Amino acid sequence: MSTITVNDAAFWQQEAQRLDWQQDFTSVVEEIDGGPRCRWFPGGRTNLSYNALDRHLAEKGDRCAIIQRDYRGATQRLSYHELWQQVNALSHLMISWGIRQGDRVMIVLPMTPLAAVAMLACARLGAVHVVVYSGVTSDALAQRVVACQPALLLHCSEHRGRQELPSIPTASATLRAVDCYSPDFTQALAQHIGCVVPCVWLESSQPSHLLFTSGTTGAPKGIVRDTGGYAVALLASLRHLFHVQDDEIFFTTADVGWVTGHSYGIYAPLLAGITTVMYEASTVNTPGESWWQMVAELGITRMLTIAGAIRLARQQGKPHASLASLRSLYLAGEPLDPATHSWVTRGMGVTCENHYWQTESGWPLLAGTGSGLAPVFTRAVDIVDATSGESCTPGQAGMLVIKDTLGPGGMSTLWQDDTQHDQRYWLRRDGRWFYATHDCAVRQNDSIVIQGRMDDVINIGGKRLATAEVENALAGIAGIIEVVATRTPHHLLGEMVALFVVTEGLTVQQEGMLKQQIRERLVSRCGRFALPRKIHFRRSLPKTFSGKFLRRMLTA
Ligand code: AMP
Repeated sequence: MSTITVNDAAFWQQEAQRLDWQQDFTSVVEEIDGGPRCRWFPGGRTNLSYNALDRHLAEKGDRCAIIQRDYRGATQRLSYHELWQQVNALSHLMISWGIRQGDRVMIVLPMTPLAAVAMLACARLGAVHVVVYSGVTSDALAQRVVACQPALLLHCSEHRGRQELPSIPTASATLRAVDCYSPDFTQALAQHIGCVVPCVWLESSQPSHLLFTSGTTGAPKGIVRDTGGYAVALLASLRHLFHVQDDEIFFTTADVGWVTGHSYGIYAPLLAGITTVMYEASTVNTPGESWWQMVAELGITRMLTIAGAIRLARQQGKPHASLASLRSLYLAGEPLDPATHSWVTRGMGVTCENHYWQTESGWPLLAGTGSGLAPVFTRAVDIVDATSGESCTPGQAGMLVIKDTLGPGGMSTLWQDDTQHDQRYWLRRDGRWFYATHDCAVRQNDSIVIQGRMDDVINIGGKRLATAEVENALAGIAGIIEVVATRTPHHLLGEMVALFVVTEGLTVQQEGMLKQQIRERLVSRCGRFALPRKIHFRRSLPKTFSGKFLRRMLTA
């Protein structure tokens, strides 16, 4: 076992002091058998539930931990003490069901405090939670159950404004399925209120959870995340990247089923002892005025969402509610187009930051104020030719790679598949490990611009054009709500651009004029080779559950 040379070891050593450890770690990071996998803060023992709850009780027991806006628009609040009490009760109940350290517990619950209680109860016991978005399809849920073999599945049979609920795999000798909205569960939980369960102190590299990727980066994979490294990374990011102070009310719009929901909806705010806002998506709680009203009513200070949500919100025009409390809006998850960026900064009058990350990384890898990004903290990155692995020159597009390690909080491995983890994500060059993001990027004026997934690059007669470049070129054209560029086969050029353009009820004549405008804009901004072969007008486009375009489906 050797130790990775991280040039920021002293930084992480210091950041780790922000966490309470039951036993000190012996080093900052160590490679496992020559890498690329590694352990952060080996030898240290800690617990996420303790750090998110118990340690705040003396000074912040009465402070609001969670504000939840439900699917009807009603609001409820839970203090740190109340949350701690509920977590203890559920942990006690789970022990009575035989749940132990290392067992997987699948959580398929809507965005209510109970989802957070369930996650923290697992963390308390050292059980590994696997949160799955509660609007998932039955097939996808069944696939995930087979993949991780949970001992317990917590779900909800109440419709709560949604159209459909996934069918729950039937309980078996090895799986207990519990409907958390049944009278039986409510009664059982009430009987355990008042019980106190000591935390199980986990070695820092023990898994805290699994999270299946959303599918934008290929087939769903079970990302394994550790305990100590994750907590240290989240606290460090809140301080140095989000500049969070002690009085914040943090609103992450993503469901707990996604990485943003895990990291900045639940763990980071609670580890830091601030207030987090959970909101249950519904026709009442849609992006736009209902969000801005929440900002004004609840005094939200920081908000994290996806650029697509802001594009939707923009259709309703300038916010009517006061956004005076909002210190920053963070956008992550997809390329930030200039029109959306300028609408936030000028239209809403709010500071806007762009964060680039992946489910795999657990927290942002790059950040910036517009589309130009820089590595977060002391991460070392490069852009390389995907075939030769050689560094690209400025202006030349290639694959973004992260040198040596993803940093604390990055995935430890893929669930029961170290081989796929090592082979899919890691490259070795000149005795160094490089994490392959599989995203196409280019250096421009000392910053990095993400162009999209590597397979989102269109090869037009040998000229490579990123779909993001095409989409950005069309930003700001009146009448276009959203646009997705994909590739379509061409007998001479190999591939050409095809566009899906979301508009609102245009006449045939207006569509014809818009097509002309689109062609002219693409020729002037990208060149003649970018002329689209097809332009399809649509009222809406298919998206993943987490709100990203299903590009593969559109291309097909
Ligand atoms: P997921 O793991 O589903 O959250 O998707 C991660 C992918 O989303 C990344 O690999 C990128 O392709 C894309 N992505 C995330 N954040 C950004 C961003 N700020 N700009 C451009 N693309 C992004």
